[in-house]
Amino acid sequence: MSETPLSATELTELTVGLNRLARNLWWTWDLDAQEIFQELSPRAWQNLYHNAVAVLHEVSDYELRVRLCNPAFAVRVREVLEKFNAYMNEKRTWATEHAPELAHNPVAYFSAEFGFHETLPISAGGLGILAGDHTKSASDLGLGFVGISLFYREGYFQQAINQENWQTEYFTLLNPKNLPMEPVLDARGDQLTLSVDIAMSRVAFQVWKVNVGRSIVYLLDTNLPANEQHYRDLTLRVYGGDGTTRIMQEILLGIGGVRVLRALGVQPSLFHMNEGHSAFLTLELIREKLAEGKQFAEALEIAKSQCVFTTHTPVEAGHDRFNQELISYALGKTQKLLKISIMDFMALGRVNPADVNEPFCMTVLALKVSRSANAVSELHGQVSRKMWHCLYPDKKEEQVPIGHITNGVHVLGWMKGRNRHFWRGKLGAKWETEVNSDQFWTRMLDPDFVSDEELWAFRYQMRRELIEFARRRLLMQDRRMTQGDFITYDRLLNPDALTIGFARRFATYKRAPLIFTQYEDIVRLALDEQRPVQFVFAGKAHPHDDDGKRFIQKIIHLSKHSEIKSHLVFLENYDIHVARQMISGCDVWLNNPRRPLEASGTSGQKAGCHGCLNMSIMDGWWREGYNGNNGFAIGDDTHPDSVEEQDRRDSANLYRVLTEEVVPCFYERDAQGIPRQWIAKIRQAMATLTPKYSTWRMVQDYTNKYYLKTPPATQGKQ
Ligand SMILES: *Cc1c(COP(=O)(O)O)cnc(C)c1O
Repeated sequence: MSETPLSATELTELTVGLNRLARNLWWTWDLDAQEIFQELSPRAWQNLYHNAVAVLHEVSDYELRVRLCNPAFAVRVREVLEKFNAYMNEKRTWATEHAPELAHNPVAYFSAEFGFHETLPISAGGLGILAGDHTKSASDLGLGFVGISLFYREGYFQQAINQENWQTEYFTLLNPKNLPMEPVLDARGDQLTLSVDIAMSRVAFQVWKVNVGRSIVYLLDTNLPANEQHYRDLTLRVYGGDGTTRIMQEILLGIGGVRVLRALGVQPSLFHMNEGHSAFLTLELIREKLAEGKQFAEALEIAKSQCVFTTHTPVEAGHDRFNQELISYALGKTQKLLKISIMDFMALGRVNPADVNEPFCMTVLALKVSRSANAVSELHGQVSRKMWHCLYPDKKEEQVPIGHITNGVHVLGWMKGRNRHFWRGKLGAKWETEVNSDQFWTRMLDPDFVSDEELWAFRYQMRRELIEFARRRLLMQDRRMTQGDFITYDRLLNPDALTIGFARRFATYKRAPLIFTQYEDIVRLALDEQRPVQFVFAGKAHPHDDDGKRFIQKIIHLSKHSEIKSHLVFLENYDIHVARQMISGCDVWLNNPRRPLEASGTSGQKAGCHGCLNMSIMDGWWREGYNGNNGFAIGDDTHPDSVEEQDRRDSANLYRVLTEEVVPCFYERDAQGIPRQWIAKIRQAMATLTPKYSTWRMVQDYTNKYYLKTPPATQGKQ
């Protein structure tokens, strides 16, 4: 390797390249790119919570140049930049072969939230994470794809726990300059500014762009001096405010989103509504056609032929409903532009148009104005067809036009660093391509490919890293800590013990504290000296959900004041980073929703590639994923009607599976100290779950089933 210092041109090239790389979230799923930002300043990397843009701001130009004059480092940077360029300019992708028609007329994917990375907290939970993973895989597959959402400058709330173990919320202001986003400019080079009509006002908004590999996501932002203060704050927080804020955010998202695409000359071949929040986009499509001189019925048919809709939950609160007063206040101008009466307008969102008391439902609008609709697992499909049968009275329930595509996760994005190193060590430079292929994971069944010993050592390291992470977090959490407590934290959690994880939103149907129903038994299990069990919990309750907050309080109380206090921890401020630590470090991922309310669930899908086994109610994706050998089932494919009966039955089953299956299997060791049966299950989980429950598969399914006008089976035959 030459020792000659870099030329000025080369230095500039690398510096510019790094700045471009930091502003494309591709780096978050590329091991080398991530490590370069990390190594630039390990301390800034920690303090700035893994924000590459902010790290580059923190490191001075001089320092950066000095680092780049180190030949080894410069070579690595150049290699990463080359890899990034190759990715961005790849000529042959899955989509060039399977979905060429979407290259110039992309899918426009609307979602009220996107979860990409912990530094851009504009997601409240699973819906946003799914949208983020969908975008990343659309990019990997080379699919024509643009996303639309809002830029919430205070994001979603941060969680803190007070002295009473009660959740409190606080917000931090996000600074676009320090985030992986850029302003969208108009032809004159000014920030593009558009507007939507809301109530009596014309509300202006600007647009930001987030690069997610080859995909672009546009974020709308009303924080402009031209707007009255309450409209400036419309995009302050994810699902912030009351019903009025909600409907206004949804007008901005749906109607404003279509306007952004038009202003930028993007001509989508279809509009995908990820949940009903964005369904007002259909009104804008109808309005456009009316302006071209079409009649309402025809305009509606055209709009319908361009839209697809995904419903995400059977929980009532997940379906926005607005009364007529609010609709005519917020959307009065739109109604006039559509040249229909308020009755006809309301009819678009009513099951029974004649019922003047029925509120306007966003799901109903989305179902009425889309060419296809789907749920997110097989069981959720059944439940949704039953739920919306009322809209299709002429059809039998099973003919209700709601299909299903089961959710998945973006595997490379969820893989923890150590896991990525493990595979790179094993497979060499091309490891990512292999890991993304369907066939690869079946190799996990072959002990000559990966030995039990290797897998078990890997599992130990993952668990150990989680425990160290948890101890660090708890130390930070406990601000009243005294010096002496360091000892306690060092002893907290045992790196050899069976570790059970539970983390998700604390919606009550997810029943976070269910496992503590048989409290005495759990204490006995946890404290068993030979076969100890420990628990790691995390999750946020909705700010208005006191029942959810009581669940948190109960678990934290147990973690501080019960017999099992050193065997149970609650990690504050659940987010993508915490999620990644937990799904990789735990041995068992617990999921015990009240069936059939977990439409799919995705956190358990992130566990498989880390060798963490699912123990779950037969709901959502697990009902399809479980094969008898790749994890643990709580109960069976049925549930009683009575909620009390269900809770009782599920907690008894949970305890039974834990004591009869999970604990014995984990602790049954051979002479080498290896749990062979447990590892056999890990192999099964990796082989059968990882490729199938990925967004790599899911986005292909969406493309084949819903995005393409010509389904692949008939392609070329017409
Ligand atoms: C994956 C994930 C979720 C969704 O988890 P579910 O199992 O679907 O409830 C929510 N929040 C975060 C931060 C996640 O990473």
